[in-house]
Amino acid sequence: MKIIKNDTVKILSGKDKGKSGKVLKVFPKDGKILVENINIFKKHIRPKKQGEQGQIIDLSRPIYANKAAIICQSCGKAVKTGYRIEGKIKSRICKKCQAKI
Ligand SMILES: [Zn+2]
Repeated sequence: MKIIKNDTVKILSGKDKGKSGKVLKVFPKDGKILVENINIFKKHIRPKKQGEQGQIIDLSRPIYANKAAIICQSCGKAVKTGYRIEGKIKSRICKKCQAKI
């Protein structure tokens, strides 16, 4: 998977299409990523004690990584990434502006 933690990604499809957010977690086995404020669902929390109020909290659910594209910090666009190998160092680059991501 090309997307890694702390990348900023743009959502390409689904209900959050066009939105962007920071990657909080990656799940390489499932091909999924967890993105801040994306794929939110409401979770109802029951009161633990008597007299306490129940709560509704917003939680993000992981989405498939192929629904998101990395936003390049240099050109500011949702781009495809490639790799460049310099000696022993392999860096991820933006295919549009060739900047390191
Ligand atoms: Zn770029």
